[in-house]
Amino acid sequence: MTTGTDTAYLQGADAPASAALLERAREVIPGGVNSPVRAFRSVGGTPRFMVRGQGPWMWDADGTRYVDLVCSWGPMILGHADPDVLRAVIEAASSGFSFGTPTEREVLLAEELVRRIGPLDRVRLVSSGTEATMSAIRLARGFTGRSVVVKFAGCYHGHVDALLASAGSGVATFGLPDSPGVPASAAGETIVLPYNDVPAVEAVFAERGQQIAAVITEAAAGNMGVVPPAPGFTDALRRITSAHGALLISDEVMTGFRCSSTGWLGLEGIPAGGAPDLFTFGKVMGGGFPAAAFGGRADVMAMLAPEGPVYQAGTLSGNPVAAAAGLTTLQKCTDEVYARLAAVSDTLTAAVEESFTRHGIPHRIQRAGSMFSVFFREGEVVNYDDARDQHFERFGRFFHAMLRRGVHLPPSSFEAWFLSAAHDDEAVEHTVQAIAESAAEIA
Ligand SMILES: *Cc1c(COP(=O)(O)O)cnc(C)c1O
Repeated sequence: MTTGTDTAYLQGADAPASAALLERAREVIPGGVNSPVRAFRSVGGTPRFMVRGQGPWMWDADGTRYVDLVCSWGPMILGHADPDVLRAVIEAASSGFSFGTPTEREVLLAEELVRRIGPLDRVRLVSSGTEATMSAIRLARGFTGRSVVVKFAGCYHGHVDALLASAGSGVATFGLPDSPGVPASAAGETIVLPYNDVPAVEAVFAERGQQIAAVITEAAAGNMGVVPPAPGFTDALRRITSAHGALLISDEVMTGFRCSSTGWLGLEGIPAGGAPDLFTFGKVMGGGFPAAAFGGRADVMAMLAPEGPVYQAGTLSGNPVAAAAGLTTLQKCTDEVYARLAAVSDTLTAAVEESFTRHGIPHRIQRAGSMFSVFFREGEVVNYDDARDQHFERFGRFFHAMLRRGVHLPPSSFEAWFLSAAHDDEAVEHTVQAIAESAAEIA
């Protein structure tokens, strides 16, 4: 994919220990990875096997140090191995790993979520964002007695069958519009519309409003690059769903407790016409452990077993070690943390702006609070068609130029650059320098 003379890195010459691990991994794990985007397919080269992280840094199997701009795809908002989270995890684990009974830590974590997110009356804890959206969809269908779900192209809600139609993230990177194995019947109950397109939503509700259980949307899209909702879009979704007796599900798995202390809802405010009926959370709220949640209106949540008839369960749901990590992470997510994230975002976006402009590299930076991404194109990105119209080959070269300078970006131009409050001046200066040199290299 690269036409330069120095392409040895694509064969793993610069990361022999990772290359050897990948070869072994491929013998026992499909593609050698447990989540597709980790395989570097869209940028080429050898995925780095990490052995250690501390603050903003991580070290791979060859001992190479990187500034981490992946942050586990969002959760590591305090940086790696935060001492307080580590203490909480050790303390929880030394009292036993899992009981399959209720524990106090689950209550504390649920209370923290409800305290932060005003419209959240009740939450249920699960183990992944996928589980949260899957359960929210089932609940919305159970509550309304309807089956059709509306989603937006380029929004990723985990690998739920019904939501894998025109999803972003790894699916977008691979250009799979749908996945084999998802029955037509599952996808057939899903209507996919362009993001930020109110007339399209109105048209579909005018025709099928009585069959639609819910609209699910990323609160601010982050899986096709960062694409915030246009002014009035969330309000319109609220108005249209309310008028037709459908629920509005706001997926804050990525944005929740990342783009602000109260997620995208806190930044944009409660929509005119009322809050979304259901929310989903994950990533930051697990602090790097498997904890996620869905929740919302008390009357809707009352439909869940054991109070109501909609079944939903999990052997490890509310796991005490994960709950301890999530609770301590959220407790440490103070205003100072978000101020630091915003300041680092300012510095890095200014550096990209300056270096890319100097070298004539077309670019577009979009932000949602302290989250941002860089599109390798010019002009505003409002939907998935725009996001797919990018210079992917150039992103791949930029990615590897940064990697060779010790900065690990997400290996896809459909992803936000994830920061942590532990990204200190040294890490930021290292990154700014790498941006300047990499821009010159790929120009
Ligand atoms: C990451 C993500 C999910 C899926 O979460 P997993 O924990 O990976 O299953 C769902 N929705 C959004 C918006 C996400 O960013």
